[in-house]
Amino acid sequence: MKKKIFIALFLSLGLVIACSDSSDDTSGPQNIDKTPNLRAAGASANDILSNDNFDKLVIEIAYVPGFRPTPTSISNFEDYLRERTFKEDIEVIYNELPSPNEETLVLEEIRDLEDENRTQYNNGTTLAIYIYFADAPSDGDELDEGLVTLGAVYRNTSMVIYESTISELARRSAIVTVTDIETATLNHEFGHLFGLVNLGTPPINDHEGVQTDENDEPILDSNGIPLGNDHCNVDGCLMLAEIQFGSSTSRSLTSKGSVLTSPCALDGDSMLKILESRTAKGLAIVPVLDTECILDLQGNGGR
Ligand SMILES: [Zn+2]
Ligand SMILES: [Zn+2]
Repeated sequence: MKKKIFIALFLSLGLVIACSDSSDDTSGPQNIDKTPNLRAAGASANDILSNDNFDKLVIEIAYVPGFRPTPTSISNFEDYLRERTFKEDIEVIYNELPSPNEETLVLEEIRDLEDENRTQYNNGTTLAIYIYFADAPSDGDELDEGLVTLGAVYRNTSMVIYESTISELARRSAIVTVTDIETATLNHEFGHLFGLVNLGTPPINDHEGVQTDENDEPILDSNGIPLGNDHCNVDGCLMLAEIQFGSSTSRSLTSKGSVLTSPCALDGDSMLKILESRTAKGLAIVPVLDTECILDLQGNGGR
């Protein structure tokens, strides 16, 4: 009998410890399961595109003071979401954060900042997205050599925009504005969260580019099949492969000991050239998705 009481006491004590453990966690809303927001980029494509499981999007814009995106960029971005998904209820929440006081940032630091500061997670039929506007460039960027990163995706509902780099590029251009680069970067990176290309949304027709080595030869998998590069091979498309870093991606993400990888690190120099050449041709300055990418989205629950 004594033994039984002892065991019961021990068990309830264990429960108390377990409960107090979880109530110690003040980093986010109570009893919210964060794991659905901690998956790989592209894993929530169908949930973002269709209304089957979620009919509302909440977009948390986390930013360092002075690096908040322009209202026009966010309004353009919302238009893009309404155009390509069935979500009609879209809410944007701004979350001002102190500067991490870093000269450069690797994805792991950005992920850690998200873990500390993100306030919105999936809840009921609301799907939450987190976008961090950083005040420091991606680690490994070399501005004078034109090697700069505009943005990257690193989880199914998370991405980073290197706002200090965008401001700097816009300052150097007589034609392209901060809003142009912000809009193009937001729309491109979000294209990956839509699952493009072949990143959670299966291509209807084959239009994925291939990974190439420094000699421009395709990199093959163990079966001799060229590895895809998660981007589009249709000229003029918003998801075109040429606007992301090739081998330099691994460079910028492995320095500072980072092991986190992104399917995309958007190349600022190429983007600037594309935006400027579109203006010269009289086209709308920000590229749009081509018919192949749109077909894929429609095949996975999008518009
Ligand atoms: Zn990309
Ligand atoms: Zn495309």
